[in-house]
Amino acid sequence: MKPILVIGGGITGVTAAVELAETGKEVILIEKKSYLGGKVIQMHNYFPKLCPPACGMEINFRRIKNNSRITVMTHTELAAVSGKKGAFTVNLKTVSRYVNDLCTACGECVAICPVERPDSFNYNYGLTRAIYLPHPLAYPQRYEIDDNFCEGESCGKCVEICKYDAIDLNAKPLEKEIEVHSIIGATGWENYDASKISGLNYNKSLDIVTNVEFEILLSDKGPGEGKLVRPSDGKPPKSIAFVQCAGSRDENYLPYCSAVCCSASLKHALNIADMLPDTKVSIHYVDLRVTGRNEDFLRRVEETKNIELVKGKIARVDVDPESNVLYVEAENIAEGLKKKEAVDMVVLATGIVPTANIPGTIKNDDNFMLTNQQNGIYPAGCAKKPMDVSTSVKDGTAAALKAMGK
Ligand SMILES: Cc1cc2nc3c(=O)[nH]c(=O)nc-3n(C[C@H](O)[C@H](O)[C@H](O)COP(=O)(O)OP(=O)(O)OC[C@H]3O[C@@H](n4cnc5c(N)ncnc54)[C@H](O)[C@@H]3O)c2cc1C
Repeated sequence: MKPILVIGGGITGVTAAVELAETGKEVILIEKKSYLGGKVIQMHNYFPKLCPPACGMEINFRRIKNNSRITVMTHTELAAVSGKKGAFTVNLKTVSRYVNDLCTACGECVAICPVERPDSFNYNYGLTRAIYLPHPLAYPQRYEIDDNFCEGESCGKCVEICKYDAIDLNAKPLEKEIEVHSIIGATGWENYDASKISGLNYNKSLDIVTNVEFEILLSDKGPGEGKLVRPSDGKPPKSIAFVQCAGSRDENYLPYCSAVCCSASLKHALNIADMLPDTKVSIHYVDLRVTGRNEDFLRRVEETKNIELVKGKIARVDVDPESNVLYVEAENIAEGLKKKEAVDMVVLATGIVPTANIPGTIKNDDNFMLTNQQNGIYPAGCAKKPMDVSTSVKDGTAAALKAMGK
């Protein structure tokens, strides 16, 4: 059998690749970023057990490293596809990272690089040099160069200092045509663009953040290096309001429910209670949608001091231009009133937008890829519908089973 192409190196694609290879199939796993792990590797911790992302990922990376049947191609996307199940021809395009696999990640190049860039792995909280390791757990452990910032040969300091000949500032993109048996589309999701939501004023204050940015603020990668601080002034917030369904279940933005945002906010509230037990947290929701083991999670939140669950929509978030104080105007259905309260931070629980950009696939009205058993391309994970990590793992395994069939 020809190899099976897995597109997307998040938890879904990584699971599918490992499962296929461990049943003896050849796999080509392509990932458009320079590292595997997708969104999970960027998280502070993940439910239901609140374990750090390294927990599941490290084992998977080891399984990939030790299995010669998996070829990992990072910085690579599918440019074109033709053919049918059993005999697809695919064109893969790999952009250069300018650092080859002789790199030992010694870091000497970083120390000498004179240019800085926003740390995109950390949602631009903080800076890295133009040559950088995407993050400490990065697989593969190899540096890369951001050519939007690097000064190229006019600088060349990294090339001079590298003892391993690992840097080529003139490296060119590569194209490759290969034949594959079938394709798994595990291209995942992006966070909804919060600046499109009117009335929530995302762009007006550094202290109005999205739920994915909040993951970084909680983590040791954030500006507080493991202590939760307000982005505007570096002080611990005394009150935080969560806006559920920010731009979701709304015909003007995303009409669907993203399935994980309620559990994510409950997780965030428990994280805050651990770090800053005196900080007041209010979660403003329309309905709380949690399933399975996350029901226990909800009970823990209900029992935790200083966390309030408020049923009712947030009408607006305003920023006082003089003092920068944030005001949240929200209904409280249980009490039958609407209140305007000052808070130190606002977290917008924005939803999941599919990254379903694989040529030749069919999509639904919300842009999620649909399964078509006949065509040999199998969507899986959040590219198919919003789902949590454990469902993504099962879905990646299911896609692997379908993809290896005749
Ligand atoms: C705020 C928030 C918190 C969450 N917290 C939790 C939690 O605590 N526990 C939990 O179970 N779930 C949580 N989730 C859900 C979790 O993030 C998803 O279940 C998980 O990311 C799904 O993995 P995936 O592989 O399908 O997608 P992704 O993680 O998005 O991975 C997809 C990968 O495909 C790559 N890719 C995209 N397009 C292409 C292309 N054209 N070519 C090549 N590669 C491509 C991407 O770069 C990415 O690496 C949370 C979600 C949100 C919004």
